[in-house]
Amino acid sequence: MDIDLPHEDDPRRLEVRRWFEQHPQPTPAELVDSGYVVPHWPRPWGLDAEPELQLIIDDEMRRAGVAKPLNPIGIGHCGPVIVVHGNDDQRQRYLPPMLRGEELWCQLFSEPEAGSDLANLSTRAVRDGDVFVVNGQKIWTSLAMVAKFGILIARTDPDTSKYTGISYFIVPMDLDGIEIRPLRNMVGGFGDAGFCEVFFTDVHLPAENLIGTLNGGWAMAKETLANERVSLSREGLQWGYGPTVRDLVALAREMGEVDAITRQRLAKAYTEGEILRYHQLRQISAAVNKKPGPDASLRKALKDPHGKVGFGLGHDMMGAYGLLAPEAVDPQWQPWASGFLFSPALTVGGGTSEVLRNVIAERMLGLPHDQDVEAGLTWTEGRARLRNPS
Ligand SMILES: Cc1cc2nc3c(=O)[nH]c(=O)nc-3n(C[C@H](O)[C@H](O)[C@H](O)COP(=O)(O)OP(=O)(O)OC[C@H]3O[C@@H](n4cnc5c(N)ncnc54)[C@H](O)[C@@H]3O)c2cc1C
Repeated sequence: MDIDLPHEDDPRRLEVRRWFEQHPQPTPAELVDSGYVVPHWPRPWGLDAEPELQLIIDDEMRRAGVAKPLNPIGIGHCGPVIVVHGNDDQRQRYLPPMLRGEELWCQLFSEPEAGSDLANLSTRAVRDGDVFVVNGQKIWTSLAMVAKFGILIARTDPDTSKYTGISYFIVPMDLDGIEIRPLRNMVGGFGDAGFCEVFFTDVHLPAENLIGTLNGGWAMAKETLANERVSLSREGLQWGYGPTVRDLVALAREMGEVDAITRQRLAKAYTEGEILRYHQLRQISAAVNKKPGPDASLRKALKDPHGKVGFGLGHDMMGAYGLLAPEAVDPQWQPWASGFLFSPALTVGGGTSEVLRNVIAERMLGLPHDQDVEAGLTWTEGRARLRNPS
């Protein structure tokens, strides 16, 4: 497999480069119209681009110093679901401002009793004329404080199997009856917008905000999670964003002096990072041209522990300086200081490492389901039974 980027004189590259020369500081709208924000999406939002063209566009965008509009949950997780399952009105209303980064999105999936076992959710949406009346609680909702819309999964038929009675909705976050409470976390400044509980009390959600068919939401929720796993395992160590171990190596070179143990650790982390980079290139066509499959879980299961290794190493290299709050350290070390504080979350959000390995075991290796889960036991009860078989 050739994993070199297309050459400098590749006509596709020259065309993209010409566009950036003509638009040195493109507005979000111009970027969206060019199709370069989501080249892998179908037209008119994207370019139906094959993997090589996607790599070229990313590469040329980086070279031009242009950043895509930021809307991680909208563009990365739920936009592709709306493209496929939304109706024309929904696509026209929601996708353009989502892609321009004008309306941020959040994901209202997890509940206190439904994390890894997401289908156990109990938030109810009951049809009443032109609206669904929503009651329940969501938790760990990233960006809820700043989001204009959320994608919500809620139970619309409690009398069927837990997977078949769920529907998928778009929720304007300013509806009456929605209360958003920020959860503090150790990352600090980003914390308030970063993480919230969301309470629904008799929220009247217009029926037109249902996506796809009533009670057909579980399949779309799984697609959203698979998109999320692809999105979270791009190159940056912090769920696709932030620095890579290559950047840490560059910092180590600047430091001049590196002790023998740090040198060993850097070489090991770099090797791991390069293997993951090659794996990402190999995965691109599977990830964006078709629906992402269990391979997305494999990549995330490898990438998250690598993120922890990278941030742990960066933190150790800071020495006593690493004890300071991120905003108090030198700008070039700030991503390492804040990334270190975020890093315990890497192997939890978007599917824990254990859950990802379950997906790999069952869907890639063909191993049988967990018998305890099949028998209706929770994970904790199942482990207790393993420890005390009697
Ligand atoms: C930074 C961050 C951002 C997040 N953002 C969002 C968001 O925007 N929207 C949203 O809806 N959610 C969000 N989440 C929530 C996230 O999806 C859940 O935390 C995750 O799915 C795990 O669920 P839980 O926390 O309830 O843990 P639990 O499911 O209670 O798991 C507890 C432990 O048991 C293990 N376990 C559970 N079941 C099994 C099993 N069958 N086999 C093996 N081990 C098992 C888990 O691996 C874990 O170690 C976010 C989480 C984090 C950390």
